[in-house]
Amino acid sequence: MHQVVLGLGGNMGDRLSLLKNARKLLTQQMSLEKESLIYQTAAWGGESKTPYLNQVLVLTTNLDAIDCLDFILNIENQLGRERVIKWGDRTMDIDILYYDYEIINTERLKVPHPYMVDRNFVLVPLAEVLPDFVHPQMGKSSMVLREECEDSLKVKPWCDIS
Ligand code: ATP
Ligand code: CA
Ligand code: CA
Repeated sequence: MHQVVLGLGGNMGDRLSLLKNARKLLTQQMSLEKESLIYQTAAWGGESKTPYLNQVLVLTTNLDAIDCLDFILNIENQLGRERVIKWGDRTMDIDILYYDYEIINTERLKVPHPYMVDRNFVLVPLAEVLPDFVHPQMGKSSMVLREECEDSLKVKPWCDIS
């Protein structure tokens, strides 16, 4: 079994239902070990003004890394993802943050996710669920990466009132 850590986020449509649907589809092939709270974050990069809801999930799976990528891209499509402009608004983005302790550097797949260490919306939920997991390239735990991150975007826990 492999441990895969996913970062989910979206800022279009019914954001909460989309996160819940993504989790449901993911758990058809993977088993859920941990999930962070849902956080709200202003849009990172791009021109968008609509805030995101973000969450980090820790799952286990038999899929190899590239099959995980195909699986999550397929789920994004099922949830209405359209790639219009880079970093544009989206219903659902699912990124592979970690796959076991592997370092993967192919054209289609880079793991650990290259920008995760620059993004509070990833590091805040990640430090919540895997505080002591050490980044295989940086040699630092999620807690330390979060403390050192210079991203100024505020990430706030978002209450599920439904
Ligand atoms: P960013 O990479 O800055 O978070 P993005 O998530 O908006 O941007 P996408 O359009 O969702 O980018 O993804 C583009 C491509 O990134 C995917 O088709 C996939 O091949 C590639 N990719 C490389 N590494 C990863 C990874 N760790 N997780 C998900 N996709 C990845
Ligand atoms: Ca992304
Ligand atoms: Ca992505």
